Amino acid sequence: MAKVVKQTELKARPAEQPFKYPLERPFVEPDWRRFAGWKDVTTEQWESALWQRQNSVKNLKDLAKVLGPRLSEDVVKEIERDQAERATMSILIPPQMINTMDETDLRGDPVRRYMLPFFSERHQEWPNHPLASRDSLHESDMWAVEGLTHRYPTKVLAEMLATCPQYCGHCTRMDLVGNNTAQVTKHAFGAQPEKRWEAMLGYLRSNKTIRDVVVSGGDVANLPIAKLEWFVSRLLDIENIRDIRLATKGLMGIPQHFLQDEVRAGLSRIAKKAWERGVDVAVHTHVNHARQVTPLVRRAVLGLLEMGFRDVRNQGVMLRGVNSTPKDLLELCFTLLDHGKIMPYYFYMCDIIPNSEHWRLSVREAKQLQHDIMGYMPGFATPRVTCDVPFVGKRWIHQFAEYDTVKGVSYWTKNYRTSIEAGDPEALNRRYEYYDPVYTLPPEGQEYWRRRMAGTAKA
Ligand code: SF4
Repeated sequence: MAKVVKQTELKARPAEQPFKYPLERPFVEPDWRRFAGWKDVTTEQWESALWQRQNSVKNLKDLAKVLGPRLSEDVVKEIERDQAERATMSILIPPQMINTMDETDLRGDPVRRYMLPFFSERHQEWPNHPLASRDSLHESDMWAVEGLTHRYPTKVLAEMLATCPQYCGHCTRMDLVGNNTAQVTKHAFGAQPEKRWEAMLGYLRSNKTIRDVVVSGGDVANLPIAKLEWFVSRLLDIENIRDIRLATKGLMGIPQHFLQDEVRAGLSRIAKKAWERGVDVAVHTHVNHARQVTPLVRRAVLGLLEMGFRDVRNQGVMLRGVNSTPKDLLELCFTLLDHGKIMPYYFYMCDIIPNSEHWRLSVREAKQLQHDIMGYMPGFATPRVTCDVPFVGKRWIHQFAEYDTVKGVSYWTKNYRTSIEAGDPEALNRRYEYYDPVYTLPPEGQEYWRRRMAGTAKA
């Protein structure tokens, strides 16, 4: 006879967990009227994309108007000096994003930390990794036509334009995207946009191995909807294209853009045509902190899902002091999933661009974070911590072939050729390097890099 287990004999109990669920922070749109400069702004104005663009903060004067007495002299000095001596991106922040900052603690605020970096936050001895470079992923080296990066066998990245509604301090495309800063003169596309786009379409038509196109920038939220629709519609006419992803941080930075009738109508026609052709079209966004997911973002996302977009996925960037603890990441993931209706998808390592060291994590730290966030969310929603290895591409964080934790060099292999290695017989046998921030290394590792910079240590 089967043994009857009494309720009192069952051993499983809800246990105390390192991360507590459900989320405690209420999901509400923060009240923008708490800011001196926006105390009379109506809901209608706030929800207007035009108002958001016209009132975006472009410099310290704009910031002072918004924050009033909340903007202290020391914060002004920090940002001013950073813009003069370190910044690779100029200031551009829509009100929607400012509204997710804590104006009572700007110094400690995670969103401020990556959108308005302070000079003193950059690492003083190692603001740069010695091998940091503009265009650290060598995307322009792999342009098949201007702005079309062909790095993987079956997928390409189309950089449609070089502007965004917001400029992020850590932007990996700092080489090309945004305005010049005191430190960085940006490169510019040579050809007229329409000519470049036609050339991209021509390349995709004649290369049947390509099935997947990331339509990016910059940010497609800065592309007039008629032009975006024109391009995506031409893509949908190409038989070999099976997947299209529209990349926009603006979905979070200025969700008002996606709530405009004209934009919604254009996106809806894109979704309908994709459905009729059996092509998956999705939106990829870029949210780095839970507070940035607000009810307006959710409204914009639900609109896209209702139109028939396959999914809205998040590709965040792991940044020290912004989201570099398991709690930060899990809170962001659950907020995306439960409230934003956005799929947590990737967390990238911050790329090895100039002046990004203070934000970057080591491979060891990132691997630990991947470990610490496992098991809380459904498998399909558990994001992969990803290292974009120059000349290789995306790799899960544990996939390195070897890791010298003293010098902070991880070695990676790959199983396909990028477009610039077509004739290179050694491309698949070589090991490719990725570098940890020097200040995270033990003293002998830091010493190695000092000697290497002085020319007294070999690579
Ligand atoms: S939105 Fe993306 S492309 Fe634009 S500045 Fe930010 S990270 Fe760079």
